[in-house]
Amino acid sequence: MPNDFSCYLVRKDDEGHVCAAVESVSLDDLPPGDVLVRVRYSSLNYKDALAAGGHPGVVRSFPHVPGIDAAGTVEQSQSDKFAPGDEVLITGCSLGAARWGGFARYVRMPAESIVPLPAGLSLRESMIYGTAGFTAAQSVQAIIDCDIDPARGPVVVTGASGGVGSIAVALLAKLGFQVSAVSGKASAHAFLRDLGAAEILSREAVVDTSDAQLLKSRWSAAVDTVGGATLATLLRSTMYRGCVTACGLVGGDDLPLTVYPFILRGVTLSGIDSDKCPMAPRLALWSRLAGEWKLDQLETLVYDTVDLDGLPAAIDTIRAGNVRGRTLVQLGAD
Ligand code: NDP
Repeated sequence: MPNDFSCYLVRKDDEGHVCAAVESVSLDDLPPGDVLVRVRYSSLNYKDALAAGGHPGVVRSFPHVPGIDAAGTVEQSQSDKFAPGDEVLITGCSLGAARWGGFARYVRMPAESIVPLPAGLSLRESMIYGTAGFTAAQSVQAIIDCDIDPARGPVVVTGASGGVGSIAVALLAKLGFQVSAVSGKASAHAFLRDLGAAEILSREAVVDTSDAQLLKSRWSAAVDTVGGATLATLLRSTMYRGCVTACGLVGGDDLPLTVYPFILRGVTLSGIDSDKCPMAPRLALWSRLAGEWKLDQLETLVYDTVDLDGLPAAIDTIRAGNVRGRTLVQLGAD
């Protein structure tokens, strides 16, 4: 095992300028942890693009390696939970945020953050899902936990062509829901229909900036990745005892709203956090993603596969909101 390896390293200079490049670092530079994983695949999420720009909400210290996802093979383990050669995946658990992340040939993590690769998934497939897929799965589970089934009416998904959105559309369609996909990209309509969307709406169709406390009931549930006026509109247009999941903020971090959707319609606002999700529900959801929820169209979701040198262009694309589906990051060929 070589002591030095490549990673995508983000630095901040004395004047506060942030820059990133592929650099060689040493295993000794990795944070403490009882399991060393040789990374085969990572994936690119919106949060990684923030980390690559040194966003203070994501990056705690410099230099930093982004990459909130990693899948690979255990190289060394001081934990009896894992042995060299085990195939594993990690999403969140501070990877690529408070700890150096998956845009690197090696990551070191505590054993309690690591998920054994579930039967039925390859390393590559696990990273096609990645944090985006895990977040979509959490959102769908939250809707099911609110006793919402396909008979209750259509479910709307915003940011539908993005990572979380596209997988949410596909999962909900697989489970028999009628899915309305909200997308700002005309070029993504065929992609979204292939994933199972019954209807495609413009972003404007789910933004109502009037001060109406409630709007016409349209959805039994919603998966929102956008936040801001979009989330406030969805909450005001969800049916009686419906459920709206909120995971993202690509459209803003405010929430202009009154309490009426909650106290008159019994709407549930379900917050989704993938980073710190406890291990029991984490394992259950990964097992579902590998089993009864496994998507037939997983490869269709791959927008691009890049190596470390291809990351800057891929990061620009996700920052511009131009990704359709998922971008895989491939580390090495073996
Ligand atoms: P992507 O960049 O892959 O997708 C975001 C999508 O949102 C875009 O493809 C676009 O879809 C839409 N979009 C972009 N800009 C705007 C805008 N200004 N207004 C409305 N829609 C817009 O991101 P991810 O899917 O990885 O993440 C989505 C959000 O969820 C992010 O905010 C991310 O931080 C958050 N997230 C949160 C997690 C958690 O644990 N809470 C975990 C994972 C993600 P289209 O063109 O189809 O409209």
